[in-house]
Amino acid sequence: MIFHQQRLKSILYGALALGIFLTGCSDRREDPPLEPKREIVIGLNPSERSEKTQQNADLLATLIEKKINMPVKMFVAQDYSGLVEALRAHTIDFAFLAPVSYVHAERIANAVVLLKAERQGSPFYFGCIVVNAESPYRTIEDLQGKQIAWVDPSSASGHLFPKSALIEAHYNPDSLFSKQVFAGGHDAVLLSVINGTIDAGATYANDTLGESGSWTQLENGELKEKVRPIFFSKPIPGDNISTSQYMIESYPDLVEKVKEAVATMHLDPEGAEIMRSMYHVDAMVPATSQDYDPVRRAAELLNLDITGKIRENDIEQVEKNQRNTLYSWLLIAGTLLFGAGVITTQVIRKREREGVEVRHGNQNDHEESPPIAGAQFSLRNLHVTFTDRNSAKIPALKGISIDIFPGEFLAIIGPSGGGKSTLLRILNRAVEPTDGRIFFHEKEVSHIHGTALLKLRRNIGFIFQQFNLVGSISVMRNVLTGRLSTVPVGRSLLGLFPEEDIAYARTLLNEVGLQEKEESRASDLSGGQQQRVAIARALAQEPEVILADEPTASLDPILAESILTLLQKINRERGITIVANLHSIELARKYGTRILGLRAGHLVFNGSPKDLSEDEIEKIYEASSNNNAL
Ligand code: ADP
Ligand code: MG
Repeated sequence: MIFHQQRLKSILYGALALGIFLTGCSDRREDPPLEPKREIVIGLNPSERSEKTQQNADLLATLIEKKINMPVKMFVAQDYSGLVEALRAHTIDFAFLAPVSYVHAERIANAVVLLKAERQGSPFYFGCIVVNAESPYRTIEDLQGKQIAWVDPSSASGHLFPKSALIEAHYNPDSLFSKQVFAGGHDAVLLSVINGTIDAGATYANDTLGESGSWTQLENGELKEKVRPIFFSKPIPGDNISTSQYMIESYPDLVEKVKEAVATMHLDPEGAEIMRSMYHVDAMVPATSQDYDPVRRAAELLNLDITGKIRENDIEQVEKNQRNTLYSWLLIAGTLLFGAGVITTQVIRKREREGVEVRHGNQNDHEESPPIAGAQFSLRNLHVTFTDRNSAKIPALKGISIDIFPGEFLAIIGPSGGGKSTLLRILNRAVEPTDGRIFFHEKEVSHIHGTALLKLRRNIGFIFQQFNLVGSISVMRNVLTGRLSTVPVGRSLLGLFPEEDIAYARTLLNEVGLQEKEESRASDLSGGQQQRVAIARALAQEPEVILADEPTASLDPILAESILTLLQKINRERGITIVANLHSIELARKYGTRILGLRAGHLVFNGSPKDLSEDEIEKIYEASSNNNAL
């Protein structure tokens, strides 16, 4: 309503001005007096936490209202192009814009920047490439042949700047990475890296030390220790608040007042709090168009269409480039793997013939037997030792030898710190064994990396105690992220998933009992429902194993049972192996087809539920002061 009235008014005044001009009223040189504004409308960019944006927008409006003595309306746009279009049509008077959208808005909507964001004393932020903290990748070279997730094509920190920084450092992203996808948001990038569906991701950082960035700010800082930043872009001028040339010419005083109100917002504790929670901004400081030259240069370097939309032919081009790269990469990888395979096999055979121990190991040598035929996983005298920050060695697994067979529901129990999580993470090779060997279908995967590791992980779904969903996006999109590594390159942005993927995701949501919730925001669901979404996401990967790390520890007992019943159904009907860490002996007995007991890194029980006697339980959980005896 308001917008229409306003637009109508500007049309009327336009017509009036034209009429005056045409009738040649030269004695009336002044423009018709503009009606004073009764309210202003400020547009917001959709932040990755849009539910918070909506909430805080009203608070922000109230604060600005107080300062300028005029009603303030907030308009939360669906996307950046909607925001720029609204500015162009004068349906909004001011807009909070990300750097790339600003450069675009300047071009097509005569936008004029007023103030830019300052975070931790700096008006710049950075693009950054992060990897899983558990991965061995430390440099860009380590990412050769790996997959990367960008945020979206027009994201400065999540695409434009890190990619152009790679190019400036003489890397060609199209040949460096085996695949590039757009995850749609900073949180989606982080969770894909943390969940292991992608090797690396681009996101924002507030410094180049790796101390502050999306991983310390999103999801209440829970992702902090889970990623490792390995590469930083040049500084990016901060996001800003802009107005239009039309506003500056028509209402210069009002523009000044709003600018002043926003520039002093951080001085008021309430204002400071809102800015921090909306955009993690500490203050808004004066800015000029030239501040955004680095953005223009980066866009030029990438030949990017800064409208922020991806054009269909771009997608085709990216896919074509990627296919060509992929083919040559596969050819090289295939040759290398074949070569390496032949060499390894020959060396092992030769050493076996010579009676040399193929592996080193100081105990349980009798367990250094080859993997059992038909086993899905075989672990042989496997050790994992972590090194903490003070370089202290922390043994987490000590000489584990087990076989896991297709279709089992394996329940792992044991006291906290016993090594349960580490055992799961060694199975999807999120950690590397310090010693010993791990086989998947009789093939050694102890130290694989790159494409081979990705291939392994694609077969393995992972479910976490904290669900690890992207709260701000729909249930459907969360499930679809399970297909990130299978969708064609360049198509993973919202709406670009193939129809059959969407149909498959729907089947899965049906299977987990959430057919009605497809469009709901994940964070609006209950804990039990969120875990069901996480299960559907794992299934979307079409895995042969699902690893579940205390999947019910955050749920009440009834929901816990319903989640385990669902996993049991998936196990029985789809034949998917389940390996679950459980905190309850009762649940382990009820759902496990076999139980493993871990204490202080040792396997102290391996048997059927009925063999788990009170004595055995005591052995598993006996006081940790006795652990050293083992
Ligand atoms: P559980 O899941 O049974 O509680 P974990 O596998 O998490 O046990 O941990 C086993 C041991 O390894 C603990 O002493 C833990 O502190 C240590 N540990 C686990 N992960 C790491 C890590 N990334 N860095 C250092 N120590 C770790
Ligand atoms: Mg654990």
